[in-house]
Amino acid sequence: MPEQLAPGVIRIPTTRRDNAFLFEGDKGYTLVDVGWASAPKAITAALADLSRKPTDITRIVITHAHPDHVQGAGLIRELTGAPLLIHPAENTWLQAGRVPRAGRSGALGRALDRLPKLHWQPLSADGPLTDGQLIDGSDGLRVLHTPGHSPGHIALVHEPTRTLLTGDAVFHRSERALGPAQLAADPHLRTGSLARIPRDLKAVGFAHGTPLTGSGVDTFHEWLNALQG
Ligand SMILES: [Zn+2]
Ligand SMILES: [Zn+2]
Repeated sequence: MPEQLAPGVIRIPTTRRDNAFLFEGDKGYTLVDVGWASAPKAITAALADLSRKPTDITRIVITHAHPDHVQGAGLIRELTGAPLLIHPAENTWLQAGRVPRAGRSGALGRALDRLPKLHWQPLSADGPLTDGQLIDGSDGLRVLHTPGHSPGHIALVHEPTRTLLTGDAVFHRSERALGPAQLAADPHLRTGSLARIPRDLKAVGFAHGTPLTGSGVDTFHEWLNALQG
């Protein structure tokens, strides 16, 4: 079931742990991330719950080209007719249909990427997303380039509601964490990237795990500050 995280910001759980997000704007919804191959089904069901249809999604923003974010992206683009937007540094991965060898810092990540079930239908983006950009037609969604987990990884700040989407820059499963270093392209860049996250947030949505609001956001800010040491 879709759940409102802030006014006009909707979380769609695509599995028990994974999330996509919708941002409502005058020119339709911006969808952030898709998910695994099964995600389009969850997303269309969520739209039906909202009395909306797939074509109400008018742009698709991808935080990075990992299978758990893009495997369902080809189908969602077909169903919605919306352009697919990603940072240029992720586009060659998107086109390759898998994470290349150099895309993971550890052997475990590279071994996982050889499994066909972690591949996807090769795709080409319809447009680039660059650091600082206010996404056209999104009514206030700003791009924050946060390399480390992958070279062109982005987080997003929805300025009207001060909602942060971390993508995979921060995971929130049992606790907040940077995620396994082996699965990141350049783990050493991650902490520096998080220094760029604004400290006046009201809500935080994670691609993996439960969102934070209220005092949870204060704790998140404290955690970010402690990371910077
Ligand atoms: Zn990832
Ligand atoms: Zn992920």
